[in-house]
Amino acid sequence: MNDNNFIGNSKTAVDFLGNEWNYDCMGCAISRGEIKIPGGIIYEGKYTILGADPEIPIPGFFIVNLKRHINSFSELSKEERTEIGNVIVYAEKALKELNVIREVTLVQEECSKHFHIWIFPNYNWMTERFGKGITYLRDISEYAKKNVNNDDIKEVLNVVEKTREYFKNHNINE
Ligand SMILES: [Zn+2]
Repeated sequence: MNDNNFIGNSKTAVDFLGNEWNYDCMGCAISRGEIKIPGGIIYEGKYTILGADPEIPIPGFFIVNLKRHINSFSELSKEERTEIGNVIVYAEKALKELNVIREVTLVQEECSKHFHIWIFPNYNWMTERFGKGITYLRDISEYAKKNVNNDDIKEVLNVVEKTREYFKNHNINE
């Protein structure tokens, strides 16, 4: 993973479909629709956008992107944190009920200038190859990027599509 893209120091990123994007802040560019997330937006609420990680092709690796440019839970409004909670709940329910994955890891880093949360799936191959826990997320991401093939990309896009369908069929505010 190219960290610089995520902490906003870089102006260019190439997504896993090969599209190149230029931006000042990736989170703001996604919020404004200037970066088209691979597979499209899974869910758009009033305050958040849920989509696949643009750069790391792992099925079920989703990003909850806040539309507003802040970087900390401590700055969230009540409405924003309610929506974030609901989006995470339904994203995880979707991944589990659609039998994509049984376990995920959530990550939010305040060193990133634009608030986003990783919903990172834990697959057996990751544990077998790298071990378990957040220590290995970067190695796993690098590996997924380097070793991606067309079937993997199809599966990532398939999971995006199925999860979008899941969100259409559920009221996340309930
Ligand atoms: Zn931003």
